[in-house]
Amino acid sequence: MSFGCLEEKLLNNIGINLDFPNRGVMMSKTFEIFKQVMEDGRKSLLETEAKAVCMEYGIPVTKFKLAKTQDEAVEFADQIGYPVVLKIVSQDIIHKSDVGGVLVGVEHAKDVRNGYDEILKNVKKHDPKAKISGILVQEMAPQGTEVIVGAIKDPQFGPAVMFGLGGIFVEVLKDVTFRVAPITEDEACEMISEVKAYPLLKGYRNTPPADIEAIARILLHTSRLVTDHQEIKELDLNPIMVYKKGAKTVDARIILE
Ligand code: ADP
Ligand code: MG
Repeated sequence: MSFGCLEEKLLNNIGINLDFPNRGVMMSKTFEIFKQVMEDGRKSLLETEAKAVCMEYGIPVTKFKLAKTQDEAVEFADQIGYPVVLKIVSQDIIHKSDVGGVLVGVEHAKDVRNGYDEILKNVKKHDPKAKISGILVQEMAPQGTEVIVGAIKDPQFGPAVMFGLGGIFVEVLKDVTFRVAPITEDEACEMISEVKAYPLLKGYRNTPPADIEAIARILLHTSRLVTDHQEIKELDLNPIMVYKKGAKTVDARIILE
């Protein structure tokens, strides 16, 4: 076992405050969102819903607003600030980029208008019957070190939290680590430091070191979320951009039992 992260914790005197003074409110607001999903006969949360749940639990996400018209999309892009990302929001589309449902780096109002129509066209071509909630306008997160935080519910052990670095590290190398929830601060640090790709988080070439405390916080808050809500079957924050200071979840998926 590597204690790199623990060493850092001691050096930097990181003490993550794990008290959730508003836990009752967090839980009931989250349950309201889940109730709506269940009442609709769905299992999968829309990105807007999953990110709203993340926000309740103090997990940082990109700013977003759901547009129902082109004009609204432009208005929201102005409010959020360019460049923006446009995404399809549909209960029938799980993998948005596979169907041409994601446009990143949209720089101007006219591109928001064109992008809005383009996404709808792509999605309709793929699935003419897809029920569309709107187009999500969101803040474009600058490139950072990409990590993935996930959770699954094991029939025997209950919820477990997963951590890995984004892209090939998880998808090809399966360089991931799991802990049964709820996890402690030390376990969050162990998880981060025990993946093989850990040295990359400490910075290399032109990439600055990533904010390990921000990752530990996200792991702990995810652990709290899946412990409080055993109705969560799967959770996937993929990717999370991690910066020198802070982190931002770019895409969030939650599936209920
Ligand atoms: P999906 O996984 O459903 O295909 P994502 O929301 O993950 O869709 O978007 C696909 C990719 O686009 C992401 O992996 C990320 O690289 C990029 N991306 C999406 N949203 C943003 C954003 N807000 N800021 C920066 N990049 C983004
Ligand atoms: Mg994704």
